[in-house]
Amino acid sequence: MTHTLIDLRSDTVTRPTAAMLTAMAAAEVGDDVYGDDPTVNRLQYRLAEMAGMDAALFMPSGTQSNLAALMAHCARGDEYLVGQHAHTYKYEGGGAAVLGSIQPQPIENAEDGTIPLAKLRAAVKPHDDHFARTRLVALENTIGGQVIPQAYVEEVSTFARAAGLGMHLDGARVFNAVVASGLSLAEVCAPYDSVSICLSKGLGTPVGSVLCGSRGFIETSHRWRKMLGGGLRQAGILAAAGLHALDHHVDRLADDHANAARLAEGLRGIDGVTVRGPFTNMVFVDFPPANVDGLATRLKVAGIVASVGAHTRFVTHLDIDRAQVDRVIATILAFYARP
Ligand SMILES: *Cc1c(COP(=O)(O)O)cnc(C)c1O
Repeated sequence: MTHTLIDLRSDTVTRPTAAMLTAMAAAEVGDDVYGDDPTVNRLQYRLAEMAGMDAALFMPSGTQSNLAALMAHCARGDEYLVGQHAHTYKYEGGGAAVLGSIQPQPIENAEDGTIPLAKLRAAVKPHDDHFARTRLVALENTIGGQVIPQAYVEEVSTFARAAGLGMHLDGARVFNAVVASGLSLAEVCAPYDSVSICLSKGLGTPVGSVLCGSRGFIETSHRWRKMLGGGLRQAGILAAAGLHALDHHVDRLADDHANAARLAEGLRGIDGVTVRGPFTNMVFVDFPPANVDGLATRLKVAGIVASVGAHTRFVTHLDIDRAQVDRVIATILAFYARP
């Protein structure tokens, strides 16, 4: 199936491939609330094994997966340390606080997406009734497309263990980090107690995330998932898409990274335009505010969908090929040649 629009807003806009739809249609299913869906069970088993964790749980969305994880790690009145720009803090409606009664302690991220260790250390509250109980560090990898250095994660993990804190990874795009770093998923996940992985981003499925952790942690998360309304029935149709993606859509993330690099290279050097990246499958471009409306119109006319603003994020994915990247570059260069 070809799609004429070139949609660079996010890697969530992909359509399931014909082969993925075939796998979904053929899925063996059961009622997953009873634990009866063999395809869901297979996906959970497989991702837990790949992540080097004991158990896993299929979740309807990354947001619900992170929330269930935070609620499993933290009780009412507990606190988690999180980056100011982290998805769980900034882009999930404040769910940890609103639904989990968990206090977020946001900390300014460094340019590279890490949270400086000294700031994490300083944010841990003393054991005193005045304070929320600090329980957890939540990191994100990739964050803004950037791969978090594994040596840094090891340092945070050492600190967290010593301070008695758990470690959660929002790994919505962890497979991008895996492919970019050359590490295995188990290696990337080793310093964490839990990891949430999106199937519906770069992996290209229509729906789904998977939460991995210890058996006890997954049992607790299972209870929260039910309460949050995430208990699904014949979810094997969705899990089959995930299994298909693990077989066919992981290694190809390298193509998305190459396309992002090509896009960044093609846009570099335009007067007044600043290009940051490529960071895995993302490129950030600052256009002069005066150009934004004109450029947005020009892209739209060319069938290119992007959230054009002074700070524009372009995301490459399964439904963007190299020729389409070249069309995007040519369209933007032409705009700047004939304003
Ligand atoms: C997309 C995303 C999520 C949430 O996933 P949804 O399935 O959209 O709820 C969480 N964290 C990060 C880093 C994401 O990019």
